[in-house]
Amino acid sequence: MPLQLEVPPPDLSQEGYAMSPLQFRGHARYEDGAVALLGTLRFTVTRLCVRCLKPFTETIESELQERFVHGTPPLSEETVENADFEWISTDEIPLMYILQEWARILPDPFGVCKKDCKGLCPVCGTDLNIETCSCETETIDPRLVGLKAFFEKR
Ligand SMILES: [Zn+2]
Ligand SMILES: [Zn+2]
Repeated sequence: MPLQLEVPPPDLSQEGYAMSPLQFRGHARYEDGAVALLGTLRFTVTRLCVRCLKPFTETIESELQERFVHGTPPLSEETVENADFEWISTDEIPLMYILQEWARILPDPFGVCKKDCKGLCPVCGTDLNIETCSCETETIDPRLVGLKAFFEKR
């Protein structure tokens, strides 16, 4: 059964994430007594870069695959954790909830606006992507400080 749907994003405003609706394109198939769900989840997320603290928008596209078995999970915790499928106790697969749970874990919590984002100067806060500052950010070996000052005086 081909599936193409769009569901509202999970609420991640507490984490400072703004997400677009989630688009899923794929199919569901019945195999070995389970429903296999396979497809691509796509959405955009806007959040702050962990280095320069500026908002940036990223498009996330991820291949997803999950299998569902109708019934209630067995009592043993170990079986539940080791299973490569999920149990569903209702007659319908709660697709919206499943897609939202997937979308929740996909964005990297340490995401950066670009790979080589230079971030902010830890001393003056200048955005080093835009301009440079003259702060001394290298740590100086304390044993050499006296000597450095001596040479600067000359
Ligand atoms: Zn950045
Ligand atoms: Zn600086």
